[in-house]
Amino acid sequence: MEIYRAYKFRLYPTEEQRILIHKTFGCSRFVYNYYLNYQKENKVCKASILCKDLKELENDCEFLKEVDSCSLRCAIFDLEDGFNNFFAKRSGYPKFKSKFARQSYRTNCIRGTYKDKEYSNIEVDLLNRNIKLPKLGKIKIRGYRNKDKIEGKIVNATISREATNKYYVSVVVEEDILIEKVIPTTIVGIDLGIKDLVITSDGIKYSNLKVLIKYEKRLKRLQKELSRREKSSKNYLKSKEKIARVHAKIKNYRKHYLNYIANEIVNEHDIIVTESLLVKDMFKDKKKAFNKSLSDACVSTLRSLIEWKCKIKGKIYYKINTYYPSSQICSHCGYKNSKLKDLSIREYVCPNCGSHNDRDINASLNILLEGLKLHYNLVSIV
Ligand SMILES: [Zn+2]
Repeated sequence: MEIYRAYKFRLYPTEEQRILIHKTFGCSRFVYNYYLNYQKENKVCKASILCKDLKELENDCEFLKEVDSCSLRCAIFDLEDGFNNFFAKRSGYPKFKSKFARQSYRTNCIRGTYKDKEYSNIEVDLLNRNIKLPKLGKIKIRGYRNKDKIEGKIVNATISREATNKYYVSVVVEEDILIEKVIPTTIVGIDLGIKDLVITSDGIKYSNLKVLIKYEKRLKRLQKELSRREKSSKNYLKSKEKIARVHAKIKNYRKHYLNYIANEIVNEHDIIVTESLLVKDMFKDKKKAFNKSLSDACVSTLRSLIEWKCKIKGKIYYKINTYYPSSQICSHCGYKNSKLKDLSIREYVCPNCGSHNDRDINASLNILLEGLKLHYNLVSIV
């Protein structure tokens, strides 16, 4: 199966390269905004037509010739995507790109043969720790110390400068991987929630995001600090960079933690079942709205991580619709205990069969059972 995988490296450009990177940010933003304005005033046209027009624009604006021309074409295709999303009602009308937002540009990998030698304009050399990029040449990189080679075909590269003042390159690679379908012997149901982010039917709990909450608190403090500073003063910019660093920490921590959970779950089980939606009692709990927004983002990322990892590891993933409140039904006898709407009850004895249930583990057991039903229905049809 062909899959796309992104590798993100930290970039260490020289001063000369850094200047050219910034020129490329500026030029691709210029092209994007120029054609957005053009289409606003005239009519929306296909990217291929705009690319033809770009040649004339390049003749009028000499500075565009200085940078990687492929990045300018990518900007036009991004704009086309923006309009397509707008017409399909997936997003709002495309907006002008600002100099003050996150800066990035993308460039495509072009391959060819020159004097019988294979040639590519983007190359990653993990042994010597550098990447070759169009117009920029070789730039020092850091990341993926455990690898000495990137398998597969490079598709494109996105160069970015984050608010933390660091430069990165994200390289998208097409890989052809062999997936061996696993014959399932184990199944696990997963309840996704707030108090614990994940509760498995094996009784394993992955705690909520204490670390993230700590960072959020620090963020709030820094934002207050920022609001007291005089705009564009030295201290203002300092505070701003501090905030950006905390944001980056949150992002990294979340990525690391969710990947860790998804790996553990997918490595240890063959069939994994989660709920497809989070229609839970938690919505009523306003006090926890703060934690909710945090865990919401995590839950949807975690679900897609599990789905993806199952796919490439040949395992089975089911999303089930829970029309019923999974935590109110006894997983032993099916008795519905509506008293359990009260969230403070964490453990109870089922009044019907007398079994002792932990609220969350009980919910994940119900999810497991639903998944099992679904699995056997599907298998018996085949
Ligand atoms: Zn029961």
